[in-house]
Amino acid sequence: MPQVNRQWLMTARPEGLVSKEHFTFKESPVPGVEAGQFLVRNLYLSFDPTLRVWMREQDSYVPSMKIGDVMRCTSVGQVVQSRNDDYHVGDFVLGGFGWQDFCVSDGHDAIVPTRKLPANIPLTLPLSALGITGLTAYFGMTDVGGVGEGDIVVVSGAAGATGSVAGQVARLKGATVIGIAGGEEKCRWLVEQAKFDHAIDYKSDNVYQKLKEYCPDGIDCFFDNVGGEVLDIVLGQLAINARVVLCGAISDYNSQDGYGLQNYSNLIVQRATMRGFIILDYLHRADEAAAQLVQWISQGDLVYQEDIQHGLENAPDVFQRIFTGKNRGKQLLKVAEPPINIDK
Ligand code: NAP
Repeated sequence: MPQVNRQWLMTARPEGLVSKEHFTFKESPVPGVEAGQFLVRNLYLSFDPTLRVWMREQDSYVPSMKIGDVMRCTSVGQVVQSRNDDYHVGDFVLGGFGWQDFCVSDGHDAIVPTRKLPANIPLTLPLSALGITGLTAYFGMTDVGGVGEGDIVVVSGAAGATGSVAGQVARLKGATVIGIAGGEEKCRWLVEQAKFDHAIDYKSDNVYQKLKEYCPDGIDCFFDNVGGEVLDIVLGQLAINARVVLCGAISDYNSQDGYGLQNYSNLIVQRATMRGFIILDYLHRADEAAAQLVQWISQGDLVYQEDIQHGLENAPDVFQRIFTGKNRGKQLLKVAEPPINIDK
């Protein structure tokens, strides 16, 4: 086992696109554990757009990060030392272990609840289709969006980890689904693999015209991951009693000023609702969503992509991929090969 703990610290708050210059790579001794604690060797790190929001000075739905903190993230790791009765050496665990090789935990993290993983599933799945993005897609589409048979549903950020699952959940609930994504390759994947009815490439298509063509009677539900101009265009084409699910606004995360919506008053005309949600409020129902998602995946009805990059030293560059659209599905970084040889 390595004798040093490599860590990425957040040492500057980004104003625009996040990059390597906002972090410092540091080597420290591997920490020891005290009574009640255990030591985790990170295996796979998860990259989520919300981390960029947590890097801002002002608090959001969780306290913001402080300058000098180890960069936060959810990850999957393996317990390599333990003085905690609930976590044993060799256990695979999920928690908020951060951009580092090793993390000491007592099993109680306020932001990302720590939990043991079952032995019989791929280690990346609790970070991808059965992780935060999969659960967000499921509850956002079913509970918040109330999607059902015959609905016309539009999803932005449709080829990403959340959007791709959200659109498929809507399809499996009997809706017609139109995805909006960046680039011809992503759009082809949406129609050919994820079985969306239509896909719109916002980088080269006229989104307004394409939505008019695919949704001539208006949009019943919009699952929005992006915000900004695309949200504005969709607001102008809502059907009566439409639901707008505010999942994310990634087009705003790297800018200081939010986009000024022009079409919001159409919510009044169409008696529509627009509702934000945070997945943390649904975690007590995670098993319910996971059971349904596992069933759809095992039947071949729901597909998902994992984009696994390699090497902790590349963490800032990998993080940037989700803001430049380079990721293909759930962005992960493998930092060690499981299982860890604990005797070395
Ligand atoms: P993701 O969709 O796998 O990756 C992000 C994607 O966003 C990129 O691949 C890119 O796709 C698109 N994108 C990046 N910058 C953009 C821009 N300026 N304009 C338009 N599209 C842009 O990431 P994810 O983890 O699944 O997250 C997707 C959204 O869900 C985010 O907004 C996130 O904050 C939100 N979310 C919310 C919750 C919640 O509790 N409410 C939980 C999880 C995630 P293209 O190539 O198509 O541009």
